[in-house]
Amino acid sequence: MSEKLFECKRCGFCCQGESTVSLTPEEQARIAHFLGLSLEEFLSLYTVRRGSRVEMKTLNGHCIFYDEKESLCRIHPVKPFHCRQWPLHPSILKDPESFEIIRRTCPGFSKKATWQEIKKLLS
Ligand code: SF4
Ligand code: SF4
Repeated sequence: MSEKLFECKRCGFCCQGESTVSLTPEEQARIAHFLGLSLEEFLSLYTVRRGSRVEMKTLNGHCIFYDEKESLCRIHPVKPFHCRQWPLHPSILKDPESFEIIRRTCPGFSKKATWQEIKKLLS
């Protein structure tokens, strides 16, 4: 990915909010192992069930794994796929409006980056 078009500013905005991405069973097991916990301990300490989804808990308005002091993810090596993918998500390929919505929430995109340029890079 060209740094001119996108470069993460580590602002942590994408880790904010009262809900998080859902975790697949594989992700749950991987994060539990990384933390040195059993699956049961991990689920009880760090996740919440919403219907059929298992999400990470939130704390002070952000994901429980977001370190406010250091502005980083405490499970970075094993973070969920959707976190690794964000904000370069297929949904921004849909149309310019979808790209603008994502761009407004992420200062990592160059102000000059156009939807066509991002689309070309991701396809
Ligand atoms: S919102 Fe964008 S720039 Fe900020 S941490 Fe997330 S990906 Fe990086
Ligand atoms: S797992 Fe890491 S990258 Fe994903 S929302 Fe939580 S703190 Fe952010």
